[in-house]
Amino acid sequence: MRALVTGGAGYIGSHASLRLLDEGHEVTVVDNLYRGHRGAIEALRRAGGDRLKFVEADLADTDALARALADGRVDTVLHFAALTYVGESVERPDDYFRVNHAGGISLLAAMRATGVQRIVFSSTAATYGEPAQDAMPIVESTPQRPINPYGASKLAFEQSLRDACAATAPLAAVALRYFNVAGADARGRIGEDHRPETHLIPICLEVALGKRPHLTVFGDDYATADGTCVRDYVHIEDLVDAHLCAFGALETGKLKCWNVGIGRGYSVCEVLESCRRVTGHAIPSVMGARRAGDPPALYANPAAIARDIGWKAKWTELDAIVATAWDWIRAHPRGYG
Ligand code: UDP
Repeated sequence: MRALVTGGAGYIGSHASLRLLDEGHEVTVVDNLYRGHRGAIEALRRAGGDRLKFVEADLADTDALARALADGRVDTVLHFAALTYVGESVERPDDYFRVNHAGGISLLAAMRATGVQRIVFSSTAATYGEPAQDAMPIVESTPQRPINPYGASKLAFEQSLRDACAATAPLAAVALRYFNVAGADARGRIGEDHRPETHLIPICLEVALGKRPHLTVFGDDYATADGTCVRDYVHIEDLVDAHLCAFGALETGKLKCWNVGIGRGYSVCEVLESCRRVTGHAIPSVMGARRAGDPPALYANPAAIARDIGWKAKWTELDAIVATAWDWIRAHPRGYG
């Protein structure tokens, strides 16, 4: 396969690129390095040698994307590049639509210009918004009613993909709706380095490393077993597997959508306990207020993706997932530097 990976210097895109390189494929990474890391590209280069091409370009630059598609003789696009912070999306909605929606349209234009038809898109459970708690676990037909510009901009691009699949010279597309992605390459070559870091597991691990004094738990008065929010944590390697399964399901003229989660939720307290076990550190915590826009519980029903394309999570133990994140962060306390 000759793949173009947008956002390949970011957390999820770099893990997908690494897997493709490990399996002998040719990969062209396009990333503007706004939040991606040159260090991730260097790690990919060590793994893939000449089979990795890196193009520093913005999604808005349709011509640069078209050149990258043509030069790499690309047959399949994996589209990860995006802005991904919910809180920031509320403050800067225009940027989220410009990058996540208009940027995607620019990519589609480049694909049309070069005759590339296959695309797997990184969508999100945030497109579901705050489903009624009796609608848990979430299935693909659960109504998509995003409650912030991040989810809305991702849903807008799902719709554009659907239209592109129905157009003249139709595309073949898959949208994977991720739940909470966690962990790192099990061989420790790359990991998660967000600036700023807002995610629960890396924050707990940064406390264990001494980089933060404590974890603030965002509310313990939710209607869940221990009062803290419940989420579905899927290991990054399982998530990448879902993309590999999706390639076989690409079908001209169709957008297919699947949830990617393990199908069970862990509360914030359970995650904290897991991080304490894995690190052997006390990880102090303080109780804080609820964070705006946090639904009590969000977890997937992964039956459709198992039935349709045979994907099933292999990493089902939270401690094992956390351990891969801990191995990387401990070896790279300043991330990519
Ligand atoms: N959370 C928390 N303290 C933090 C960061 C996150 O209590 O410092 C909670 C957050 O409210 C949510 C869960 O941990 O219930 C997972 O949050 P994260 O930001 O990792 O992912 P999200 O579910 O928002 O995509």
